[in-house]
Amino acid sequence: MVPSVDKGIHAHRESGDTLHTYVSLSRPPEWFAAIDFTDPAAAAARIAAEFDGWAPELTALITDGDTEPVLRPQYTLPIGHRWARVPGVTLIGDAAHLMPANGEGANLAMLDGAELAVALAAHPGDAEAALTEYEQAMFPRSAKVGAEGKRFDELLAGVGEDDVPRILIDAFREFTGAARES
Ligand SMILES: Cc1cc2nc3c(=O)[nH]c(=O)nc-3n(C[C@H](O)[C@H](O)[C@H](O)COP(=O)(O)OP(=O)(O)OC[C@H]3O[C@@H](n4cnc5c(N)ncnc54)[C@H](O)[C@@H]3O)c2cc1C
Repeated sequence: MVPSVDKGIHAHRESGDTLHTYVSLSRPPEWFAAIDFTDPAAAAARIAAEFDGWAPELTALITDGDTEPVLRPQYTLPIGHRWARVPGVTLIGDAAHLMPANGEGANLAMLDGAELAVALAAHPGDAEAALTEYEQAMFPRSAKVGAEGKRFDELLAGVGEDDVPRILIDAFREFTGAARES
């Protein structure tokens, strides 16, 4: 993970000796619309230009990939998004709490599904009780995780790029409840 103020490079190892890279950039939609993604090399070079001055080992993750860059706009729901009970219907996963990618979305989605199943099994013949129980736990849980992601963005906002490693360590400490270094 190499997060920065309005951009970042995130890579992780997958099976088959594959390194999968996500490059994130906070830019208006028009900025991306002006890039021709049908020209992969030019598009990668344009994105890499936003990381001018970064270590070449990192920018190579943008320019030297074996596959073409894919543009994936990210959308979010408001943090703390909730709805009034609708008989017979509920939502799980991103449909309920789409938030900026912070490494928790799939975890939350699976937990939602498991907890909904547990609630339905605990209330045979009374789906409304099950859905109510599920939503009462899901709303605050997803709001808390969404707020942590927002807090992380706030920690990064306005800092110099040299401060980012320190901010990242502080954020991990804060979110895991460990004491910060004085
Ligand atoms: C770049 C990025 C990195 C991420 N990294 C992580 C991570 O490291 N860890 C983590 O936990 N989470 C991560 N997430 C978040 C995670 O991917 C999502 O939170 C998770 O996939 C949500 O699961 P879901 O089942 O709710 O929704 P989805 O995975 O979006 O599944 C919804 C499915 O419904 C289908 N669908 C939509 N409309 C219809 C329709 N009308 N009829 C039939 N099917 C339909 C879609 O095609 C899709 O397959 C990341 C997300 C992004 C974008």
